[in-house]
Amino acid sequence: MGTTMAEQDGSPLESPDASPFGSSFGSPADEPLGAELRGERAARARIAAARLAAEGVEGVILSWVDNAGLTRVKTVPVRRLEHAAAWGVGAAPCFDVFLVDDSVTTSRHIGGPAGDLRLIPDLHRLTRLSAQPGWAWAPADRYAQDGSVHPGCQRRFARRLTGAVSARGIELRAGIEIEWVVALAGAPGEPPCYPTFGPAYGLHRLVDLSDYLRDLLHALDEQGLSVLQLHPEYAPGQFEVSLAPEGPLGAADTTVLVRQTIRAVGVRHGLRTSYAPAVEPGTVGNGGHLHLSLWRGEHNLGQGGPGRYGLTGEAESFLAGVLAELPALLALGAPSPASYLRLVPQQWAGAYQCWGLENREAALRLIPGPPGEGPAGANAELKCFDAAANPYLLVGSVLAAGLAGLDARRSLPAEVPGDPAALPEGEIPRLPSSLAQALAEYRTSGILREALGDPLYEAVLAVRLGELALFDGCSPEELAAATRWRY
Ligand code: GLU
Ligand code: MG
Repeated sequence: MGTTMAEQDGSPLESPDASPFGSSFGSPADEPLGAELRGERAARARIAAARLAAEGVEGVILSWVDNAGLTRVKTVPVRRLEHAAAWGVGAAPCFDVFLVDDSVTTSRHIGGPAGDLRLIPDLHRLTRLSAQPGWAWAPADRYAQDGSVHPGCQRRFARRLTGAVSARGIELRAGIEIEWVVALAGAPGEPPCYPTFGPAYGLHRLVDLSDYLRDLLHALDEQGLSVLQLHPEYAPGQFEVSLAPEGPLGAADTTVLVRQTIRAVGVRHGLRTSYAPAVEPGTVGNGGHLHLSLWRGEHNLGQGGPGRYGLTGEAESFLAGVLAELPALLALGAPSPASYLRLVPQQWAGAYQCWGLENREAALRLIPGPPGEGPAGANAELKCFDAAANPYLLVGSVLAAGLAGLDARRSLPAEVPGDPAALPEGEIPRLPSSLAQALAEYRTSGILREALGDPLYEAVLAVRLGELALFDGCSPEELAAATRWRY
């Protein structure tokens, strides 16, 4: 039995705003929590909690993903869910400036030990966890104590940008591919010891870890998640799962849930899980490729248009906007200094700022789908992002860049059909090859600053600068070792 309470994020669609992205403060999706809303939430939570308790659930995990890309949590006993749904659970605002090693920096708007936020669970995604018996999970939005939306809430950012696209009559369907590496559970400081030495994409790996992978499929299915595919990946101990596309906010929530599930199933099999961009330097890392398609009603805008490979003008402009903004977007989608150990040519990581039909070395891979399959197959894949990215910041910022492209009626540049690394150096622009370079682009991105709003934009900047300083002078081996088991 699936235990997801609703299929979609259920967020109200927003109306257009003067700003293309909606205002950072007070747009309709940022509706404050008043008495009526609190009452409605409490009533729904009471029913949900009774059902969960009858199913043996003891505790509910409330998660949010911080600006470093780590999922942080508070939990409540199931009988407190009703209260949490109305009034939230306390959390310090300075979590917004935590670094990957749990040290804390500060930023202009957010930082310091004072203050309190409220984590409010989104009951639409309340899910009983299959691989953590007795637990349920819900993603949380973060509010101030007076019920106003916290401007640093990453999930609200994703919701707001989804609404800004919807306001133009366009819906996005998105999915984030999940790659991970499993190792035998041992001391965190030790080099990874893999539970299988089977070859890349090999049946051997599947046989070695047959029970683990079966249990994973079962757990994902039981939680109402729709798996499209599961396979052994290239790097030692690496696997990948892809899920059916859904709304951008839903796709980000699903990423959090799937990753938590993979980790939990691994624990039950004595396996440690890593989503680090570079588990070991010098080999293929963990990508977090973002697939997206644009729709007007039942019409996939990536098909049947007059543009290249059937792109409509709107789809082309949106994708061109994203492609143009990629160097700055990397500060959100490849957020760690370790991300740049992964983002190198000829690893299918998409290290070049170009697009191409089914081109796995282009940051933007256009996927028209098999002829005759129908509208569902056509989509675009952004390959340069990795699994350290906060999925809410990722989808929200990609939507912002796409919207800017749409409004400017941008066109795509010439296609790059083969391996960009085989062309004379400089012919195709390389994406930033360090976090410092990506950050320099982020700092001059008016699009991202406006879309994120100053408090969130600056908190992200502070975290990135903090991690640059933290790992300054580290060798690739030291950097990989320091981040290997953090994500
Ligand atoms: N693991 C590769 C990456 O770092 C991607 C492999 C693939 O194309 O799925 O992005
Ligand atoms: Mg892959």
